[in-house]
Amino acid sequence: MTLGSKELKNFIDEQAIAQTIEATNNPAPSKVREILAKSREAKGLTIEETSVLLQADDPELRAELFSTAREVKKAIYGNRLVLFAPLYITNECGNRCAYCGFNVENKDLERRTLTDEEIRREVYALEDMGHKRLLLVYGEHPRFGADWMADTIRVVYDTVSEKSGEIRRVNINCAPQEVEGFRKLHEAGIGTYQCFQETYHRATYESLHKGGRKKDFLWRLHAMHRAMEAGIDDVGMGALFGLYDYRFEVLGLLAHAAELEKHFGVGPHTLSFPRLEPAQNAEIAYHPPCPIPNERFKQMVAVLRLAVPYTGLILSTREEPTLRRSLLDLGVSQLSAGSRTYPGAYSDPAYDRPEVQQFCVGDNRSLDEVIREVVGQGWIPSWCTACYRLGRTGEHFMELAKKGFIQEFCKPNALLTFKEYLQDYATAPTRAAGDALVEREVEDFPEARRDLIASRLQRIAQGERDLYI
Ligand code: SAM
Ligand code: SF4
Repeated sequence: MTLGSKELKNFIDEQAIAQTIEATNNPAPSKVREILAKSREAKGLTIEETSVLLQADDPELRAELFSTAREVKKAIYGNRLVLFAPLYITNECGNRCAYCGFNVENKDLERRTLTDEEIRREVYALEDMGHKRLLLVYGEHPRFGADWMADTIRVVYDTVSEKSGEIRRVNINCAPQEVEGFRKLHEAGIGTYQCFQETYHRATYESLHKGGRKKDFLWRLHAMHRAMEAGIDDVGMGALFGLYDYRFEVLGLLAHAAELEKHFGVGPHTLSFPRLEPAQNAEIAYHPPCPIPNERFKQMVAVLRLAVPYTGLILSTREEPTLRRSLLDLGVSQLSAGSRTYPGAYSDPAYDRPEVQQFCVGDNRSLDEVIREVVGQGWIPSWCTACYRLGRTGEHFMELAKKGFIQEFCKPNALLTFKEYLQDYATAPTRAAGDALVEREVEDFPEARRDLIASRLQRIAQGERDLYI
């Protein structure tokens, strides 16, 4: 039985977090180095250790932190980068989130909810670009419940283009549901359920959410509990950075992850760390009360990589290209590209539409441009969905990941999906750069594996699709 939110407990111990931040301020270099040494074992960090690393201010220590994060990222994830795009289904919303352009009080926003036909058009446009993994995004409106969302998910899966293939994984970012509602979303075949707490600091949360269902802090805080109770074992958490002290938010995220692990034996599959971007009629989005500067942001990503080594870290197009580039080797494992932030955007020839979009994106480049750049830096773009389709999710995935499975299976699968991209969607310069990378990477495998991968690549070149190990 689900608890009413009056009976729910705030498991974020604000006082303890504040005290930890205070007690670990300006840490001794020896302490920082001791924690960095422990981080290399990739077993994760405590809240206190994380707080120490977040507050290591000395440039030399920060450089050591960055190089440790790079080592751990490389050891666990290798040089793969998972790519996806958001697909906005509705911008209608009954909530009053002070920072969001979809806020019900924003009367200048053109409201739009996609029909099935419009969803299909968007999906075809995304498939033509080469996307295989989508994140569906929804405003929260009483008219749109779990049944309706489940239908939209099915429409996306059913939209298969003869020319450009199909979407293989649908993740969603939508308002918290009752357990029953989550069950319906699970049955519709979602991959990850994603929902951001925005801020773990309750008074700040309550001052920014003055109306609608979302104003209830505890209801949102327990969203992942309900999702997991409904059988969704891949959940994605996050905080919206800029609203409150970033150190508090990071420790809040870890406390939340620990709580899930305690109850369900598994923490979040991914973490996101969106920063506030300008949004129509949302004053606070233009002037964040607690902005986090780029260097700090980089440090935070590196620390997260060490604190939760096996949790995916997601970077959106809110950030601009230069910063995005520098965050990849520090820890990011999933990247959105070619994103548009309003319903109907991908089949809309006019790009820039402040009157409908949620917020301004910082990286406007196309998927192909982003791919060409990351390939130039040695990253293998991946659209692999094998684990999820073979039931290797949640706790089961974490167990496998810890046994070096990522290198043995994920990297070959990344190469296979990338080869499909190169064959079907890439521009000529991207294809040339990509094929050269694939060839180099295959050479690096031990002989037995190399032959298997080479023969699968050959089959893809000859027209077979959706091959994975
Ligand atoms: N309506 C659902 C909700 O609030 O959970 C899901 C969709 S909402 C559009 C997705 C996320 O966008 C929010 O959780 C919030 O973190 C983020 N967001 C809202 N306004 C933003 C802004 N101005 N800049 C960056 N991210 C923003
Ligand atoms: Fe609505 Fe979500 Fe935007 Fe809040 S953040 S106004 S709930 S779409």
